[in-house]
Amino acid sequence: MAFSATDNLVLVDSGAPGSSAQLDAALKTFAPNGRVQTLFNTHYHLDQTGNNETFSAAGAKIIAHERTRQWMSTDTWVPDQDRYEKARPKAAWPTQTFLTTSSMRAGSETIEYGYLTLAHTSGDIYVHFRDSNVLAVGDVASPLRDPALDYFTGAWIGGRVDAMDVLLKISNDQTKIVPAYGVAMTRAQLKAERDVMEEVRVRLFNKIREGAGPKDMMEAGLLNGLSRTWKDPYKFLYDASKGLWAHHNKIDPNVV
Ligand SMILES: [Zn+2]
Repeated sequence: MAFSATDNLVLVDSGAPGSSAQLDAALKTFAPNGRVQTLFNTHYHLDQTGNNETFSAAGAKIIAHERTRQWMSTDTWVPDQDRYEKARPKAAWPTQTFLTTSSMRAGSETIEYGYLTLAHTSGDIYVHFRDSNVLAVGDVASPLRDPALDYFTGAWIGGRVDAMDVLLKISNDQTKIVPAYGVAMTRAQLKAERDVMEEVRVRLFNKIREGAGPKDMMEAGLLNGLSRTWKDPYKFLYDASKGLWAHHNKIDPNVV
């Protein structure tokens, strides 16, 4: 998404590789004399950082969580494709990183941004345009695509619920919540997705306690009867199960 303060543009995520002409045309229509001076990356995935080099070369500063810079500067394992993704060239790396929260001004707009711990990757952030009341959340809300947990970086279902609670806390009924894919959501829609994630978390904990794997979970209909469906339920359950390995200490009878 893009925000314009006269000719000073703030962009959240730079799009997939190869989409720069399309993005450029959209920005020209949005603000003909605008120049992107600040680019946020909501996380390290290519769909969010694919055109970073172009904006960086044109003088934009790139703000992201420190973990996003780390994942971009090292080769990463892509488990479901059984290969390594090469580290990104230095020109694509964020130029300004933070750990918890921070803020900036663009014209009269106050922009607050902060860390969403282990929700989709280990470096997710929100970007809140306070005065316009628009909240960009990257892949931490997923109304269109299946919710995804990049467990290799540490993302897990409990992290996702916690992150959505943070987003609920900083939003109100008028907030326009902008996910990476799909149309803007209301706070009520975000709350509904959060509740589905929490229900899935409880069911997952129960199944893991029984020693079930993702296949058993599929057969037991773990994702049945919820207010959303999955295009690839096995992949989600596989990643969610993997993501739980680092959190088995939280799975005790007192948790649920
Ligand atoms: Zn992503």
